[in-house]
Amino acid sequence: MSLLARYRDLLPITDATPLISLAEGNTPLIAAPRLARELGVRELLLKFEGMNPTGSFKDRGMVMAIAKAVEEGARSVVCASTGNTSAAAAAYAARAGLEAVVIVPAGKIALGKLAQALMYGAKLVAIEGNFDAALDIVRKMGDSYPITVVNSVNQYRIEGQTTAAYEIVDVLGDAPDALCLPVGNAGNITAYWLGFQRYHQRGKTTHLPKMLGFQAEGASPIVRGSAFDKPHTLATAINIGNPASWQYAVSARDESTGCIDCVSDDEIVAAWRDLARCEGVFCEPASAAGVAGLRKLVQQGAAPPDARYVAVLTGHGLKDPGLAVEQFSPPQPVPPSMTAIERVLGW
Ligand SMILES: *Cc1c(COP(=O)(O)O)cnc(C)c1O
Repeated sequence: MSLLARYRDLLPITDATPLISLAEGNTPLIAAPRLARELGVRELLLKFEGMNPTGSFKDRGMVMAIAKAVEEGARSVVCASTGNTSAAAAAYAARAGLEAVVIVPAGKIALGKLAQALMYGAKLVAIEGNFDAALDIVRKMGDSYPITVVNSVNQYRIEGQTTAAYEIVDVLGDAPDALCLPVGNAGNITAYWLGFQRYHQRGKTTHLPKMLGFQAEGASPIVRGSAFDKPHTLATAINIGNPASWQYAVSARDESTGCIDCVSDDEIVAAWRDLARCEGVFCEPASAAGVAGLRKLVQQGAAPPDARYVAVLTGHGLKDPGLAVEQFSPPQPVPPSMTAIERVLGW
């Protein structure tokens, strides 16, 4: 069953809403026992959102936003993006027969994401500026033209993204003790909190989880308490200086008695590599911020070891293969002989 059909009663769906689908959602919750032992926690589960059709959790919100855009008679949609939103917008617009316009910061987008937007047929504009500048322009375009903005300022995006919280509870039979996730524009932490609260009100959980959000140090406006003019991190998906859902993220943090902290690029890279090496789960760098943050909290004694943690891995590792390959020295070709190969392997 499609995501919109499955959670129909919890979503803003009417008889006129087309239940479009690319088989999004229903992503695996993968036990990570080796990494849990390494971090020093009882239980760690990975909600691997890279398994969505365009390779990130953005598909959950986008399917809802595009369905509502169609219902309201829109012909075209626009978004600003660090990459994954544009891939999702382009794919679902193609699916629904809408035009997609995508505004991206020039040179700051992973190659895989650019390839997706182009292949799905979006009109792509690269601006000489960062994500925050792109979002400013998109908001103005929405005011001036009959075009639907599908950034997470669009409430339907947030609504669609609540489904990830429902899925976690549906699989575990209750909420986890804490949810760890990266924070960029802060739509996802907002949506998870909303989703967990809704399920709790319906009696589907015995408690609410703590929301543990992590920004990259070079793009940590919520942690510092002021916007960053020039955010910088290799985790491009969270390279955002002035999050649109800032206040909602702060509410999620405070109401859940969780935290929003930051992690360095080195800590992100270490967690990113550990996820792939220890558990066989390859996510994109930004996606590892939640695990990097959990490691930091455990080391500080700020996260109880005897708890069940779910870390959200927001996007797929193949989005940005260049950065992965750069971590290693490329193999030097050798003659096709057993001896040469044995020498390389040190056997
Ligand atoms: C969009 C995105 C984020 C950040 O999510 P927000 O809702 O903007 O906080 C993190 N990781 C990946 C892979 C993303 O695409």
